[in-house]
Amino acid sequence: MSWLTEIARPEIRTLRAYEHALWEPGLVRLHANELPWRAHGDTSQAGLNRYPEPHPHALTAALARFYGVEAPMLLACRGSDEAIDLLIRSYCRAGADAVIVCPPTFGMYAVAARVQGATVIEVPLRREAGYDCDFEAVRAQCTGGVKLVFLCSPNNPTGNRFEPGAIVALARTLQGRALVVVDEAYVEFADGPSLIAQLAAQPGLIVLRTLSKAYALAGARCGVLIAHPDVVALLRKVIQPYAVTQLTIEAVFNMLEPEALDEARARCATIRAERARVAAALRERDSVRQVWPSEANFLLVEFDDALSALRRAHDAGVLVRDLHAAPGLTQALRISIGSPEHNDRLLASLA
Ligand SMILES: *Cc1c(COP(=O)(O)O)cnc(C)c1O
Repeated sequence: MSWLTEIARPEIRTLRAYEHALWEPGLVRLHANELPWRAHGDTSQAGLNRYPEPHPHALTAALARFYGVEAPMLLACRGSDEAIDLLIRSYCRAGADAVIVCPPTFGMYAVAARVQGATVIEVPLRREAGYDCDFEAVRAQCTGGVKLVFLCSPNNPTGNRFEPGAIVALARTLQGRALVVVDEAYVEFADGPSLIAQLAAQPGLIVLRTLSKAYALAGARCGVLIAHPDVVALLRKVIQPYAVTQLTIEAVFNMLEPEALDEARARCATIRAERARVAAALRERDSVRQVWPSEANFLLVEFDDALSALRRAHDAGVLVRDLHAAPGLTQALRISIGSPEHNDRLLASLA
């Protein structure tokens, strides 16, 4: 047994996965208590009266090809939110183990940890260093009970990316003790590559990717976890069978068509150009104190009076994200980059 399995919860290590109904498309299905007719309005390819494939092999193979990894390294999930939850439930014993998070960052890591009864250790990003990760402090905090370190890069809501070499070095240091989870929800908008290429050399590294942002499928709920096959095999015992719905499977296959991918790439380029335009326009505004550099599809913007900016945007029919609850961000808003028309509307509201 490798250390990747040994540091997991003992109950999960020894768990026997649920044995679901056989998947043999083409045979008459009288083994899963389904109805033989489609529901009214069901326009799906396969028919929603049938259960989807319990662990979707064809989808996994296609996504593995897309991300350039072997299929046993990839777990398709109900959004990367589910991957975060599966990791914590599989590795952290309630009341005993811990995760490290680096705020200000995505809130789901801490929420999922608290639901599981895991301790949340915060190692704040260094604002004075452009919200860079304090890798030394993370290392120092990584004592016995810490099983997972969550790094979001590019980070939500600050928009910056951490140095890939430093992330890999951290994973190497923690080898045998803890896993480093790199959430790359926004990497398609960034200037540098994904860390997926580093996984083969660094078994303690885990990458999360999602189709919710750059691939316009937030409503479909599909994300992936890419890791050493031992980690994937462990989580596959815990994930719900049928986690990815038939409608989602079909939407993902449509997205993986060559024309769809060309369109996604073009849209990413548009978002990056709009990001530069909106950032420059906001920097001209008297009410704006700071626009942080961003490698994601949003900007972290500090105002003299964030609440007033929030209200003006809302009056113009535009929602932006209020961050006042985040420590150190009381006057900050997170503004997603939208279509050129939507961005113009936001800029006009703040004029
Ligand atoms: C949006 C977001 C996600 C959620 O991804 P889903 O695949 O939609 O669950 C994950 N991580 C970060 C940092 C995000 O901002």
